[in-house]
Amino acid sequence: MSGGVNSNFRLNISPTPLVFERGEGAYLYDVDGNKLIDYYLGMGPMILGHKPQALVDAVKSQIDSGILFAGQTAIEAEAARLVCELVPSAERMRFGSSGSEVDQAAMRLARAATGRTKVLKFEGHYHGWFDNVLWSTAPALDAAGPADAPVPVIGSKGQLKDTADTLVVLPWNNLELLTARLAEGDIAAVIMEAAMCNQGAVHPLPGYLEGVREACTKTGTILIFDEVITGFRLAPGGAQELFGVTPDLSTFGKAIANGFPVAAIAGRADLMDMFTSGGVVHGGTYNAQPIAMAATAATLKSLTPALYKKIGVAGTALQDGFREIFASAGVAASVVGFPQVFHVALGLDKPARDFRDLAKMNRPAYIALTTALMYRGVRALERGAWFLSSEHDAGVINDTLAAMRDAVRELKA
Ligand code: PLP
Repeated sequence: MSGGVNSNFRLNISPTPLVFERGEGAYLYDVDGNKLIDYYLGMGPMILGHKPQALVDAVKSQIDSGILFAGQTAIEAEAARLVCELVPSAERMRFGSSGSEVDQAAMRLARAATGRTKVLKFEGHYHGWFDNVLWSTAPALDAAGPADAPVPVIGSKGQLKDTADTLVVLPWNNLELLTARLAEGDIAAVIMEAAMCNQGAVHPLPGYLEGVREACTKTGTILIFDEVITGFRLAPGGAQELFGVTPDLSTFGKAIANGFPVAAIAGRADLMDMFTSGGVVHGGTYNAQPIAMAATAATLKSLTPALYKKIGVAGTALQDGFREIFASAGVAASVVGFPQVFHVALGLDKPARDFRDLAKMNRPAYIALTTALMYRGVRALERGAWFLSSEHDAGVINDTLAAMRDAVRELKA
């Protein structure tokens, strides 16, 4: 395997790519016998933790009926119904297999519906690894131009550079710039994470999402919320439920199936029906794969108010504990976000408002911290995100706080 991994995002910076044997609840066990409290959670999906019994039972029972039919199943209809019941804007939906793909489907629909070409995205917002959106996702600010007129920064060698011609990149959380650009009338879609969670865990400023919604409606621009991280995690109905703003289309992945490769696109019936009668193509051999659908239905049925309450208590206690540890050690750090996913940035003494603020965090110090935590039995992402599941109970949180206290003490020394 190139680099010993199967995704560039698993090329761990420290100490080496780990090899895991099993996962259970809040814990991962590696082949060397180490037990780690897991805050990667598969990079976000495992909101029920590792190996939840209801999901395991549903999957085992489905596999006895067969694997792939290239036709419709009752379990896929059940999963689809659950998505439409939970997601406020979901008049119609379709399943896909990855977040990257359904983001492409959403942008294609928007282009078909508006007859326009350009998509507007924001610095630091990640919408998958395909050529037309892998722009301005990594902190390379020296190449990014002025804050109020960013220059798109390419994400990968080999990427088609002319895809930038179909893209406009702006800073997020700045309504004035967005409104002015949309007024030119040539943007097919605005795509954004309604709370910026791939990088950081940045809240929209008060009134921002409402203002974006209004500007999109006024200019005939399709508003796409990329809820691949926020969907089913911030609330059963995602960021759109939490903030009360309705996009035209939204995309989901990760927590929708607690670790199975499932994604979804949902939204306005007139747009979604363009897949049926509007000449817009969407496909995928593995879309709505029955075993993955059993996992989806089992996951979505588990998303009770009690589950969010439980994660809320644990996530708040963990953030409060981290703040106290950093403050009493005299370490400048910002701990911000949501109980279900938050972000820790060393070297920032106030919460980031956008990607450029975040880029000022002390990354080498944070990587040293996650390495120190790893040696104390806690696995946290080097980019600063902390994902929680319903299995992170008070005991797990206390153990994590003890590890953090000790790691900070060592690094200060
Ligand atoms: N959108 C967001 C906000 C994401 O965080 C990700 C993945 O991390 C994607 C899209 C792409 O999803 P996938 O990795 O399933 O292709």
